[in-house]
This record gives sequence, structure tokens and C-alpha cells, in this order.
Amino acid sequence: MELDDHAEDLASDLGVDKEEVKSDLQNLVEYSVPIDEATQSLRRKHGDGSGGGGGAPSSKNIGEITPDDGNVTVTGVVLTAGKRSIRYQGSDHVIVEGELADDTGTIDYTAWEDFGLSAGDTITAGNAGVREWDGEPELNLGESTSLSFVDDPLEIDATIGGNATLADLQTGDRAVSVEVAVVECERRTIDGRDGETEILSGVVGDESGRLPFTNWDPAPEIEEGGPVRIENAYVQEFRGVPEVNVSEFSTVTAIDREIDVGADTTSMDVGEAVRTGGIYDVEVAGNVIEVRDGSGLIQRCPECYRVIQKGQCRTHGDVDGIDDLRVKAILDDGTGSVTVVLDDEITEDIYGGTLDDALEQAREAMDQSVVADTIRDNIVGHEYTVRGHLSVDEYGANLDAEQFGESDDDPQARASTFLSAIESGTDDGIVADEEVDA
Ligand SMILES: [Zn+2]
Repeated sequence: MELDDHAEDLASDLGVDKEEVKSDLQNLVEYSVPIDEATQSLRRKHGDGSGGGGGAPSSKNIGEITPDDGNVTVTGVVLTAGKRSIRYQGSDHVIVEGELADDTGTIDYTAWEDFGLSAGDTITAGNAGVREWDGEPELNLGESTSLSFVDDPLEIDATIGGNATLADLQTGDRAVSVEVAVVECERRTIDGRDGETEILSGVVGDESGRLPFTNWDPAPEIEEGGPVRIENAYVQEFRGVPEVNVSEFSTVTAIDREIDVGADTTSMDVGEAVRTGGIYDVEVAGNVIEVRDGSGLIQRCPECYRVIQKGQCRTHGDVDGIDDLRVKAILDDGTGSVTVVLDDEITEDIYGGTLDDALEQAREAMDQSVVADTIRDNIVGHEYTVRGHLSVDEYGANLDAEQFGESDDDPQARASTFLSAIESGTDDGIVADEEVDA
């Protein structure tokens, strides 16, 4: 249902002006309040006690809850409970998020009220709202939920507490605890929702891998370089990869243990890397089979820095573009393909000239596509090892390159591997290749 339909329904149920209801709804939704919670909140504001539901909700096992359930009553063990602050109707509002489990399954929940939940509690949530997120059901515990703590704890198999390795973390995870070394850290000033504010950002690592992080309330233990134990962090997507978010509600403590962050980047087949759905700091190798349109000499919007075409920005219309260099090249190793995006510096390297040289070449030819043609001649058909951050969206996989170097491997061996992998349609050829390298 569209916002407009929700507003229409509410206005007629509550007997109030539709435009007023709609603008309230819009505000709530902009502050990430789920639409069901937003409509319930407006019903309460306008004095409708029905809560929008009909009849008492039925008791359900967690494993049986589907996104189609309106409201349910569940009993389960709180596996994790992490606080987070969101802005709601112009003021900060603290919510608690985590996972609830019984012996049939686990489910994510969001508590909009402070019920005092902590990991290990067994609770019964009466009249909990069910909403769908990414195809899966989630619980909303709000003002209309009656919550009680059960003295007799439920026996479950799931592990209480959010201990995880970096490799375990996925976008959307809440209330996680990790023990990490701080690999990179810088203090930055950003224009936050309350004006200028200082944050720490960088990269953390453990035995399983590395991930970027943001520390919204700079912790000295992180700035000093760790190693640290971080409790109650949440994971959000940043440029297509999971990012560890350390908030004012997270606990950061220095730890004694040495953390051995693997010095080597994870090397993967292209196909394997793409199947992860997004991975930070990965290395792949393959053939450049194509240099895509939008490569070489390009122009960017001075406002939003996106690539413009014929002087037109999608958002800002007619603009005076800034010249820049970049490459979008398709790399293939027989197991899959990925669009490698090269920044201006790497592009200058493989072009063999500077931005000024490129502008000069384009002026002489009276055609800026000659720059992409030169790059195409230089790299198509060659083997490259690329290190960077891989993200996958509806248009395919992109690898934002930090390093892009011609492979040292014997090109003949790799070429035959590439061919045999294509012919057999399996990864076998690549395994053989690793044996050749060893
Ligand atoms: Zn723009």
C-alpha cells in the first residue's frame, strides 16, 4: 500500500484531515519508522484505541511466524539487545534491536519502548507486531505490546550474546560483539545531523578478515590502535560492504590478547567473490575483456560529483562539468565477471599520461572517446590482479580498485586455465592454476 492509501484510510477511520495525516506519516517514514508503527502511532495520537488490529493475537512458535501474521504472542529468549538512536519527529529516540529465539527458530526484533531487555532474558511478548523486512518476518515491540519476563528460562540451542568474527558479520546485524585490532584509524569532521561532529573511521581486523568501521563517538581505546573488544555494535552497508558501526551505546574495552590480522588479502575466484554478495578488501585475478562506455575522459557534476552526459546532470540539469579520468573494465577469470572501477590515479597509470595529456589528445582528435580507445588498446586482453572492495547490486558486481597490476603469473598458464575453466564450466581449472603457482 502507498503512503497516500495509508493516509486515506487513517483519515477516514479517525475523521481527521487527510493532508495532516499524510504529512505526519511522511515525517515518521523519513525517520525510518516502519509504516505499521507510524500508522499505529498516529491512531494513538488521534485517540483511536483499537490499534488497528482485530481480535486477540494467537500464540506462535518463532519458527512458524510468517510476514503475513498481523500480530502474534511469542515466548522466547533474548539472544541480543542493542541500543541505537534514531531521529523521530525531530527528537532523538532510543530503540533496542536484536534477536529472539525459541527451540523452533530465531527472529529479529525492534523494541520501540524501553522494556529493559537484556541478553539471556526469557520473555513473553503479547500482541507483538509482525512486519516484513527483506522477505523475512520481524517483530515490532511497541506501546501496544504487553511484555513480561518469564522466571522459568526457556532451554534453547542458539548462543546467547552477539559474539562474532568479522567474517560472520552481515549488513543488518545488531548488537554484535567483536574482538579486533585497529588496522587503520583517522579522525574526521563530518557534517552530522547536529552540525559538525568528530568521528573515527578506518579498518578493523581479526583472524577472519577485515572490515571498515565508523566510531560515531570517538573511543580513545580505538584511536590508540587497540586491540579492543567492542560490544553492542551494529552493521550497516557502506558502499556495498558491511561496515561495523560503533555508537555511543557500544562498549569499547582494551584487551590484552594479540590479534593476528592476516597480512594477506583474501584471494578468491571472481565467481566466488561475487557470490559473497559484497566483500571488503579482496583480491581477484583475470582477463580484461572489455572497457565499458563511460571510461576514459569523463565529466562530473560540480555539485554531486556524479558522471554527467552532454553537460547534463541527472539531478542538477545543465552544469559546467569537471574533467576527470576513470575506467570501468570488465574482468573475467572463467568463473565469473566483475566491473572493475579504476580511479583517476590508476587510470593515469594505465593510460600512460595525465589528465592534461588526455585533454590534449581529445582536443587534437576533436573527440574525447580517443582516450578510452587508448586505454582499451593498453589493457584489453591482458591479465590483471586487482585488489579492492567488491559490491553487488541489481546491475551486477563492481570492484572498486585500490590496486590494479598486471599479473606476474605466466600468462600462458593462466590463459590455458582461463580457457579450460570456461570449457569445463567449473572451478577445477582455477584449482589447478593455484597448484601451478605454488
Ligand atoms: Zn549533480
